[in-house]
Amino acid sequence: MEHEIGPIILTIVVAGSYFLPTLIAASKDHTDSVAVFLVNALLGWTVIGWGVALVWSYTDRSNSLKVPAKKTCPHCAVIILADSIFCRFCGREQPVNQAAEARRKKATEWGG
Ligand SMILES: [Zn+2]
Repeated sequence: MEHEIGPIILTIVVAGSYFLPTLIAASKDHTDSVAVFLVNALLGWTVIGWGVALVWSYTDRSNSLKVPAKKTCPHCAVIILADSIFCRFCGREQPVNQAAEARRKKATEWGG
């Protein structure tokens, strides 16, 4: 019986390795996951195509398209933009954001 299970496991491992770029792209919700799959499936056997698909699966452009960072208002627990100075729901001032505060101070100094 064992000599029949061996090839099946080997096939699963090989297929899993072969479609690793597609699995990575799918798990990352890649914007070009379909294209990665096509390169992976059609050119994967050339090794170069597999390498291209693998690199492609890691270079996801969707990160640059994502909405700005958000945080939870400590006063009303509503999700607001991380750079907010005042909460747009409860109107209360937000804890100081170091970078934003530095910019604000500089602007105040210049404004006189
Ligand atoms: Zn709030």
